[in-house]
Amino acid sequence: MQPLRGTRDILPDDIILWQHIYNKAKEILDLSNYSEIRTPILESTSLFNRSIGNETDIVNKEMYTFFDQGKREITLRPEGTASIVRSFVSNRLYQENKTNRLWYLGPMFRYERPQQGRQRQFHQLGIECIGSINPMADTEVIRLATQLLQELQCPNYKIEINSIGNLQERNLYKESLIKYLISYKEDLDTDSQKRLKTNPLRILDSKNKKTQEILKQAPSLNRYLGSESRTHFDSVCQYLNELNIEYYINDKLVRGLDYYNYTAFEIKVDKLGSQDTICGGGRYDCLIEQLGGPYTPAVGWAIGIERLLSIIKNNLNVKTKNPIIYIATQGIEAQRKIWNIIRTLEKCKINFELDLYNNNLQKKIKRAYKSNASICLILGDDEIDKKEITLKYLNTNIQKRIFTTELSKELKTILRTN
Ligand code: ATP
Ligand code: MG
Repeated sequence: MQPLRGTRDILPDDIILWQHIYNKAKEILDLSNYSEIRTPILESTSLFNRSIGNETDIVNKEMYTFFDQGKREITLRPEGTASIVRSFVSNRLYQENKTNRLWYLGPMFRYERPQQGRQRQFHQLGIECIGSINPMADTEVIRLATQLLQELQCPNYKIEINSIGNLQERNLYKESLIKYLISYKEDLDTDSQKRLKTNPLRILDSKNKKTQEILKQAPSLNRYLGSESRTHFDSVCQYLNELNIEYYINDKLVRGLDYYNYTAFEIKVDKLGSQDTICGGGRYDCLIEQLGGPYTPAVGWAIGIERLLSIIKNNLNVKTKNPIIYIATQGIEAQRKIWNIIRTLEKCKINFELDLYNNNLQKKIKRAYKSNASICLILGDDEIDKKEITLKYLNTNIQKRIFTTELSKELKTILRTN
C-alpha cells in the first residue's frame, strides 16, 4: 500500500518540526492579536470559481472537485483565503466593527504534477488582516512574515514586492501588454500563447526562458498605476524602509489568483530550484464584497510549510523526547498495581514508557536499555509485598529499592539531573 501520488505521511520524527512551526507562529501572531481560525476543508466549488477566478491555473486544472451523494459540487480547498472570506461573510464577523486579524494552518489540495516542492496535498500557514485599507496593514503582514521566518532560522530569503493597481489600471495595462506580446506570439511557450486570450498578466509569471527574454522589453505595469495605487505602494515601501526590511521591487510580479489588487508580494529562497517561492500574498480589497459581504479591504499571505521545512529542517534543533523511565512489571499482580505508580509519574510530569510485552524481566530490562531511558522501574511480587519499587539506573547499572511512598521525592531528584 502506498499513499496517493503527491501526498505523504508526516511521521512522528517530523511532527515535532511541524509542532515547532505551529508553536512559533502562535507565539508571534498572538502578540499582534491574530486569532487562529479553522474552516472546513470541503467547500462548495462555486466559492473558488467566484474568488480565485475562472481563468486561473488553480480553477482551470488544479482543483479536486467532485459531486457528493446529494449531487452538490464540492471542492477540496486549494488555498485558504477564499474559505476565510466565506467564513467572515457567513458568520457576519464584519458586524464586530473591528479589524479582524486571523491566521490558519492546514492542508490544501491542488492537482499538479508532483515534484520537489510541489505536492497534491500540501500545507499552508496563512494570515489575513481584514478591515483596513491603511498601508500599515500591508506593512504589518509583511513584517510578520519576516518575523516568523527569522524566528524559524530561515536563511537568505528575499522579498519581492509590486503594485498591481486596481482593476481598471490592470485592464489598461493588459491591452498594452497584449499589443506588445502579440507580435512575438509564435515565440511564446504554448501556455503563454493560450494566456494571451485568457489571462495575459499571468504570462509575466512564465518560467519559460524564451518567454522571459521577450518579456524584458515588455511595457511595465507601474506606468499604468494611478495616483492612489502609487501613493499606497510608496507608503508600504517607505514603512518597510523604516523597518529596515530589505525588499526588491519586481514590476513583473503578478499573482496566480484574480482577487488581488494594489500590493502583491512573494518571498523567495535561493536553495529550492524552480520551486523557490515559500510565501505569497497581497491585498484583496474587493473579495469580501464580491462574495456577498460589505466592502471590506484586506491583506494577507500564505507560507508553504513543506517548502519552508525543506529549507529550515537542518537548522532547527528540536529533538524527540526519550522516556526517562522505562516501566517493567513482573507478574499479574504488578500489572494491577502499576497504575498508581503511573499516576505518580504523570503528576511529576516525567516521561515514561510502559513495557507491554508479556515475557521475562531480563528481556524487559534489555528493552529498557534500548529505549534510551535513564531508569528502569521494576515492580514484581516481592516489591508489592514490601510496598517498595526497584529503580535500576541504566547508566551506572546501580539498582536500589525505595518505598512506594518515597517515589515522588525520588522523581524530583531524577528530574533535576535529567
Ligand atoms: P507556484 O508558483 O510555486 O505554483 P503559487 O503561486 O501557486 O506557487 P500560492 O497559491 O501563492 O502559490 O501559495 C502560497 C505558497 O504555498 C507557495 O509560495 C508555496 O510555498 C506553497 N505552495 C503552493 N502550491 C504548492 C504545492 N503544490 N506544493 C507545495 N507547496 C505549494
Ligand atoms: Mg501554483
